[in-house]
Amino acid sequence: MPELSAVFEFHGDLTTLLRPRWRNVHPIVQPVTRRASVKDVIESFGIPHTEIDRITCDNTEVDFSFPVNYGQRFNIYQVLPPWNVFQPTKLRPDPLKRIRFIVDVNVGRLARYLRAAGFDTLYNYHWDDNQIVNLIMQENLIVLTRDLGLLKRKQVQFGRYIRADRPIEQLREVMQLLNLEKEVKAFSRCLDCNRYLQHVSKEEIMHRLEPLTRKYYDSFSMCQACNKIYWSGSHVEEMRRFFR
Ligand SMILES: [Zn+2]
Repeated sequence: MPELSAVFEFHGDLTTLLRPRWRNVHPIVQPVTRRASVKDVIESFGIPHTEIDRITCDNTEVDFSFPVNYGQRFNIYQVLPPWNVFQPTKLRPDPLKRIRFIVDVNVGRLARYLRAAGFDTLYNYHWDDNQIVNLIMQENLIVLTRDLGLLKRKQVQFGRYIRADRPIEQLREVMQLLNLEKEVKAFSRCLDCNRYLQHVSKEEIMHRLEPLTRKYYDSFSMCQACNKIYWSGSHVEEMRRFFR
């Protein structure tokens, strides 16, 4: 190790998030030229703190504010499924009380899939990074995004850089990460506004149905907020197969 440097070793698929110039460098040996926290140094290599489960410095666990000094050796471990967000850890001493997502516009379609699976999901395509951060400060939420910059914001404690491309695969990625298979309540929420649906009788809403829907379907539910009607049409069947 060159004098006045610190060593950083990234484990698991964290290396795929490194900036290109670091991607094939294992471990990274970096001169210590300024006073900085380990969070700042790690993020300067490209990796947002939300992806990290554990950091050790010379085999002792440290938190994000730990100051980097020369001669130190850091091992950085990724968040792995099943990620227990209800358990306090060195890096996240304030765990979540419940699972609630906020979805960024760059993975917007994922919001509807999460709601279809019954997960509490905030989404609005008008929200920018600042508005998302403001909402997190009111209530700690899990941020789902492909914006590495958003995940580096210190207010974001829980988040995930979504790897998968297709929305259904993104849903699978999130459910596996947080071990949510048993929590699925398929078609319990409105896809548009996240509110719970309530069963309605066919008679009540008959006048709003298209002739074919009226003919072939008997079981309906309705959003109490926007009055949208849901029934077990073909798109619902496709997602039901996935949830099974
Ligand atoms: Zn609704």
